[in-house]
Amino acid sequence: MKCPYCGEEMEQGVIQSPHEIAWQNKRSYIGRAKFHRGSIVLSKLYMFEGSAVIANCCRKCEKIIIDYKEGSCDMNQTK
Ligand SMILES: [Zn+2]
Repeated sequence: MKCPYCGEEMEQGVIQSPHEIAWQNKRSYIGRAKFHRGSIVLSKLYMFEGSAVIANCCRKCEKIIIDYKEGSCDMNQTK
């Protein structure tokens, strides 16, 4: 993936967590993302594996981009 800011090739990597990984429009402390309107679950939690998403990094621009189209970033869904 090319960086949309500088056009150079991005470095593919992983963001992982022992919890669900989700985008929400504000911080919350209680409940999974599905209980928050408008949330986007990037990786569902699996009991023994946790959650992980494919993320692209540009060290030059200091940007990390996650392409979540059709769950493609969720490593638990794509294995
Ligand atoms: Zn860049």
